[in-house]
Amino acid sequence: MRSIDDQGYHFEEWLTPEQIAADVKQVGKQISRDYEGKEPLFVIVLNGAFVFAADLMRALDGLRCEQTFIRVSSYYGMATTGTLEFIVPLQQVVENRDVIIVEDIVDTGLTIHQLKAHLRGLGATSVRVASMLFKPNKLEYDDAKPDYIGHEVSDEFVIGYGLDFDGFNRNLDAIYKVKK
Ligand code: 5GP
Repeated sequence: MRSIDDQGYHFEEWLTPEQIAADVKQVGKQISRDYEGKEPLFVIVLNGAFVFAADLMRALDGLRCEQTFIRVSSYYGMATTGTLEFIVPLQQVVENRDVIIVEDIVDTGLTIHQLKAHLRGLGATSVRVASMLFKPNKLEYDDAKPDYIGHEVSDEFVIGYGLDFDGFNRNLDAIYKVKK
């Protein structure tokens, strides 16, 4: 099993590239089936979701769709700061669009809870969420449970496949869990 050491923490491989690919394929299939005949707009949450989004877009089965990006931040190191900062605001009109937010991980749900309210306020027809990972035990906002989930994860901090530890490790091809 592969492992990484960073800033005094030890991380062990948890989801292999092959497992991730199977998860992404299944999410892509579900979305393609549910949105058949529609033209959804994917709102990709930077920075973390860029790796998942790149794979997910190519796992869609001939779906006609658009992509746009938004950058928000609520974390510093391994802890949430509790408030959402819009670092790169939305560039695209979402009014009357079926929107699918693409996230790397839903933890407390604060980010998604606030983003959903923001997009609804801008007149989106529907807002759903696709997230590579979901931590069900940590969810504090019911409306933030993702509609499409790659994999559920327990409470530990994870890195890789877009997920960072203080800006680093996003480029790892697998997902690693911190070990105490
Ligand atoms: P939430 O708002 O749901 O509490 O947190 C969502 C954001 O927190 C994610 O987009 C991600 O950036 C960060 N996050 C939450 N849990 C983890 C984790 O285990 N590892 C990493 N690297 N980021 C996390």
